[in-house]
Amino acid sequence: MAAAAQARPLNVDATIAELKALFGDRVSTAHAVREQHGKDISYHEAHLPDAVVFAESTEEVQQIVQLCARHKTPIIPFGTGTSLEGHISAPNGGISLDVSRMNKILQVNEADLDVVVQPGVTRKQLNEYLRATGLFFPIDPGADASIGGMTSTRASGTNAVRYGTMRENVLSLQVVTPDGRIMQLGRRSRKSSAGYDLVKLFVGSEGTLGVITEITLRLYGTPESMVAATCAFDDLEGAVNTVIQTIQSGIPVARIELMDTYTVDTVNQYSKLTLPQKNLLLLEFHGTEAGTKEQAEMVQAIAAEHGGGDFAWTNQAEERSKMWQARHDAAWAAKAYKPGWGMWATDVCVPISKLAECILETQKDIQANGLYAPIVGHVGDGNFHLTMMVDPNDPTYLPRAEGLNDRMIARAQNLGGTCTGEHGVGIGKIKYLYQEHGEAMSLMRAIKKAIDPDNIMNPGKIMGPIN
Ligand SMILES: Cc1cc2nc3c(=O)[nH]c(=O)nc-3n(C[C@H](O)[C@H](O)[C@H](O)COP(=O)(O)OP(=O)(O)OC[C@H]3O[C@@H](n4cnc5c(N)ncnc54)[C@H](O)[C@@H]3O)c2cc1C
Repeated sequence: MAAAAQARPLNVDATIAELKALFGDRVSTAHAVREQHGKDISYHEAHLPDAVVFAESTEEVQQIVQLCARHKTPIIPFGTGTSLEGHISAPNGGISLDVSRMNKILQVNEADLDVVVQPGVTRKQLNEYLRATGLFFPIDPGADASIGGMTSTRASGTNAVRYGTMRENVLSLQVVTPDGRIMQLGRRSRKSSAGYDLVKLFVGSEGTLGVITEITLRLYGTPESMVAATCAFDDLEGAVNTVIQTIQSGIPVARIELMDTYTVDTVNQYSKLTLPQKNLLLLEFHGTEAGTKEQAEMVQAIAAEHGGGDFAWTNQAEERSKMWQARHDAAWAAKAYKPGWGMWATDVCVPISKLAECILETQKDIQANGLYAPIVGHVGDGNFHLTMMVDPNDPTYLPRAEGLNDRMIARAQNLGGTCTGEHGVGIGKIKYLYQEHGEAMSLMRAIKKAIDPDNIMNPGKIMGPIN
């Protein structure tokens, strides 16, 4: 959606003048730069920041935060801008604080399987760097997002079923708080019972509590054997029931992803593949050669009970990465399939035993309302996504898509699930958060007010306006 006009916050001109005096041409008020920093790929209304500043060190972040705090100017931290729920939008104006130039890998502790990075390091950059060590970092949202952004949205991806999400993989953080103090949260040790878990409070805080300037992450040894497989189903129910039984059987799959027939169709066209034109499970198994073979055979047998066929597998690295890149590009494939349409990616997550009910009811809802919304999912976690495409020439389309989103979220919440498994809240999911957490929202608001009493850090996100 186009950028909306908005009032400029008080004192923003003074803030920008002081920032320019300190950082020169690393402060931009150019429309194109502001647009790149205020508008994501989603269908949410974009609000542009008044200026963008590019920080290059923790001390610079501290200076910027202290300056903005003095003027009570909003700050919107920015990594790579791939978030999907209006997270980087600036509804109150202010300064986008871009940390993408803070992209150094500071310390690899091979003996402890951890790494310390600056927030602008991207997940692909990190894995390229680690390749020679035999270690890897598993969290892989579809986009090549920054580690700071991934931490802030509590991101996950295709490997989370085996390796967990950012919640399980961030050991400690360095942050700049809204009053401009630099703090170390957490330790490198794998366990700690030392007080409130402030690391987990900041993981998923979407820039509303401070700016993350260093992250210590867990790493894993690259498995001896990695086998990828696909299995095709005539109906979605068979595919989903295969997932449920696989997880309930305790088979330690590394990845188990779903693409419905619509997604397979678009992905085949976009990524020039010839995947069977059916509902498809994409799987990966990690372990020893014997272990991965055994796991693949067990899942193949489960799939056969549920009508799954065309089980194909490979251990060739190039074929595997081509398949997973295609899965990661599923949203772009849907966009390319409907040129000129808007895109709205939304996700929910339910306990695994409720996955079939939630997905199948949602599939019926899509069909009953004549909408184009391919289904994909990190289904091993009970997490699935709709890539809802929105026809700009049909005024009834967006309200119908909104209705579908509302009903899918209510369905997931009624089944014990959540309004977002990994994309986060931004502005798009605020109302559902109140539905989900009820009275606990007052605690979240109290935490926000205690840490950021002037509400300068990414205001308007997660809980909406706070007074
Ligand atoms: C094609 C596509 C596929 C995707 N697939 C997935 C997926 O599978 N799983 C998934 O989880 N997500 C997915 N996403 C969403 C997105 O990639 C994630 O939300 C990602 O974590 C955002 O990282 P970023 O660097 O782009 O952050 P940004 O978009 O720049 O910022 C996101 C939020 O974090 C805050 N923030 C950023 N950096 C900092 C910092 N240093 N300190 C404090 N706050 C900060 C921002 O203020 C904002 O609120 C996908 C997106 C796209 C476009």
